[in-house]
Formats: sequence, C-alpha cells, structure tokens
Amino acid sequence: MGTGRSSRFGSLLVQLHLAVLGTAALGFAAAAGATIQLNRQALVRDHLHRATSAAEPLVARLDAVAASPQPVDLSALSRAIDRQSRGGPLFWIRRPDGRRLLSRPLQGIDQAPLFSVPGGSGDGPGPVTPRTIGNHRYLVHRHHRSTDGTDLWVAEDVNEPWRALVRLLMDMLLIWLGCLALTLLALTLLTRRIIRPLRELNRMAAAITTDTLATSRLALAGAPREVQDLAEAYNSLLDRLAHTWDHQRSFVSAVSHELRNPLTIISGYLRRLQRRGGSLQPEQLRALATAEAETHRITRLLNDLLDLSRSESGRLELLPGPVAVDEILLMACDLARSQLARRLELRLPQDSTEQPVMAIAEADRLQQVVLNLIENADKYTPDNAPIEVELVRERDADGRPGVAISVSDRGIGIPPDDLPRIFERFHRAANALDRARGSGLGLSIVNLLVEAMGGRIEVESELGQGSCFRLHLRAPEAGDPGAGPGDGLPPQ
Ligand code: ADP
Repeated sequence: MGTGRSSRFGSLLVQLHLAVLGTAALGFAAAAGATIQLNRQALVRDHLHRATSAAEPLVARLDAVAASPQPVDLSALSRAIDRQSRGGPLFWIRRPDGRRLLSRPLQGIDQAPLFSVPGGSGDGPGPVTPRTIGNHRYLVHRHHRSTDGTDLWVAEDVNEPWRALVRLLMDMLLIWLGCLALTLLALTLLTRRIIRPLRELNRMAAAITTDTLATSRLALAGAPREVQDLAEAYNSLLDRLAHTWDHQRSFVSAVSHELRNPLTIISGYLRRLQRRGGSLQPEQLRALATAEAETHRITRLLNDLLDLSRSESGRLELLPGPVAVDEILLMACDLARSQLARRLELRLPQDSTEQPVMAIAEADRLQQVVLNLIENADKYTPDNAPIEVELVRERDADGRPGVAISVSDRGIGIPPDDLPRIFERFHRAANALDRARGSGLGLSIVNLLVEAMGGRIEVESELGQGSCFRLHLRAPEAGDPGAGPGDGLPPQ
C-alpha cells in the first residue's frame, strides 16, 4: 500500500512538531519584541519624568539668563548645573556659540558619544536617544532651548533597569524553552496515540488480498471518530470491490465456458478439412493450418483464464495422487513432437523401464504443465536448437524422496531483472515482448498447478544462452493414499 516512500517531512508527526515549533518560535519572538518595546517606552517615560523634575530650576535660570539685557556671569549657572547633576541625571549646557558648560566630567569615560546626539528641531525636548559607552547605557536628549539659543541637555545612566530588562528576557527564554520541551513531549505522546489507529488501519488494509476481499473488514474500536469514518469508507469500498471482483470472475468464467465449446467445434472442422483437403491449394491448406493453430492458442488462453478464475474462487481443486511420471512425460513429449518443428529429447532414469518413476501429482495437470513449459521453450528459442526434457529421481533437503523434471532450451533466456517476477500473472520479460505473442498467464498457472500438487518450480536462465525450468514433486510415501510398496522410491 502507499505510493513509495515519502520524505521525512511527509510524516504527520514531524509536520505537527514543525508546526508547533514554528508557532512557538513566532509567538516567542512576538512576545519578546512586545516586551522589549513596552519596557523601552516605560524606561524613556521614566527618564523624561525624572529629567523634567530635576531640570526645572535649571530651565528657570537659563530663561532668566536669556532674558537678561546685561551679560551674565555663567559660573553661577555652572554651579547650579553641578548641583542638579549630583546623584541624578547629568546636565550640560550648550551655548549658541558652541561652548559647553558641563558640571562634572564622567569618570574614566569618553563622553563624546553623548555630545554627538542630534538635538532635533524646535524649542521643546528633542528625541530620546540611547547611547552605549563602555558597558553603560545612557538615554540622552536635548531638554530645553531658551530664547537666546542656549540648549539644556540631559543624559541618564539607565544601566540597571536595562540589565533588569535583559535578565527578564533571558528568564523568559529559559521558561519558554522549558515550556516548549514539555509541549513537544506532550504532543509526541498525544499524536502517537492519535496516529496509532491510522497505523493500525494501514496495517489491516495492507493485509487484504483478492482472496480475503469479501471477508475482510476493518474494525477499530476506540479509535477517534474521523478514523472510524475512514474505516467505514474503506469497508464500503471493499464491499464494492468484492462485488465487482466477483462479477468479473463470474464473467470471465462464463465467457471462457461459452467460448470453449464453439472453439472446439471450429478446431475439429478445421482439422477434418485439412485431412480431406486433397483438392485444396497449398496456400489454402496453410491458411487452414494457421486458423487451427490460432483456435488452439485461444482455447489454451481460455483454459488458462478458467483455471485462474477457478483458483481465485477456490474452485480449482486438484486431487493429487501417485502417478507414473515417466509415462506422463512419454505421452506429453509424443504430443509435443507432433506439433514441434524442432527436436525434443526426453531422458528418463535408466531403470524406469523396469520400475515406473512415481510421484504425487495429477496426471492431466502434470501433462498440462510439461506441455506449457515445452511450448514456451519452443516459443522463445529462435533457431532450431533442440529442447531437452529430463526426469531424475532426487531427495530433498530433509532426505525425502522425490522427482525433478527439467525442461531446458537454448533460447533467448530471461533477463535477470525479470527472473524473480517470471511466475507473476501477466508478467512478460522485456526481451519476449517483440519475439512472440503471449498473455503472460502460462507460467503463473504452471506455478499454481505445481503448488496445488504439493510441488515447487524453479528456473535458471542466462540471457542469450537459454533457460531451464525445473519442477520438483514429492514421491509417494507409505501412508499416502494409493501408494503401493516400492513405488519407485530411490534407494537411500
Ligand atoms: P507468455 O504467454 O508470455 O509466454 P508465460 O507466463 O508462459 O507467458 O511466460 C511469461 C514470460 O516468461 C514470457 O513472456 C517470457 O518472457 C518468459 N519465458 C517463459 N518461458 C521462457 C523461456 N523458455 N525462455 C525465455 N523466456 C521465457
């Protein structure tokens, strides 16, 4: 079942994990971004608030200096800045001529980055700009511009709240990772549970064959409703399939039956015509022979179809018993020779003239199998090379007596890729397609019959060299119905 192997991402479980991971990562990124933004705004708001209250006296002085018609001594202003800067934000003043009045230089740091912050336009507070100097973080802005163009600047060290914010984010990250691990674990357990019925469904569906189609039912007690619905849909599909299958079998069986009788009659008339055809032209006789060969071919095909349909409906019943295989082979080879243009050699065990070679089989079916193999050997051997049939006595791996019948040819052989599938229904090897007509059914029926007789068949083949089909049958043993003493068993 299924269409080949899907990629790892095709798994429902992996897709769910990826979806959860992706959503969680997005969620965390959004939450972290929002937290940073809100905290930053709060930090700026606090900074502005503190700066406004601390700068109030300085703003008043600056405005007074600006309004004074006389030149003012700036040292008083400088002292005021110094006072205001103590323990709070750092203030400095920039005069319109560029001079800077700074209360106290910050210890050990280069303050240039603070002074390079752009002040913005207008008289009100300029934009609040963060600046990092060393490992300290400052918020800087121009707080006030008086009428003479003097600016009051503020810088505040916000290192502590900033660190607290970073710590909060790290804690959030840890908590988030922990939650994610727990979520994934829970999800894995949950999805395994959810997917289990689907796997079960898959397993049950894979076990259904054409033989079990009519009786197979997928039942998943306790599965989620969706899966149960799926199983029900499967079951109704199985019903319809079984029905169609049944119809098809009956149809094939009925048609094969109906066609076989007229074909036998046609074939009989053709044979009679040929025998009495003294007045016929040679090409008319050839046409009759072709017509007879074709009726023979179609009859074989119909018989094969009938056997298949019988085996599928369990009606192909063989009654194997002890038979003299050497006699069956003699008859089959005589029959085959009458239709072959090439030599057919039969090799029997030397003692077969005194003692028949017995095996468990059904005489007609064994003959059908052998004829089928000989016909194939003839069909797939282009030149006049002979076909060899050989019967030997053998013992199987457990030492039980049996016989082996081999049919060998020196024909086109079977490509290694096709060899394992050669007994499958309708399978034809790549090199056979343009050589001879065929249905691809013969060997599957041979296999079916051999197995029904309790035997097995194997093939050895080399491309361009030839093929050898060997079938193994069990010899009768004491206790087999119909087995007599000394039924051709080989000496131990
Ligand atoms: P078909 O009607 O095609 O002969 P079979 O079931 O009898 O069907 O054989 C299946 C396929 O096995 C053939 O199509 C052919 O490719 C291969 N085959 C069978 N017998 C031989 C053989 N003696 N030599 C080479 N190929 C063979």
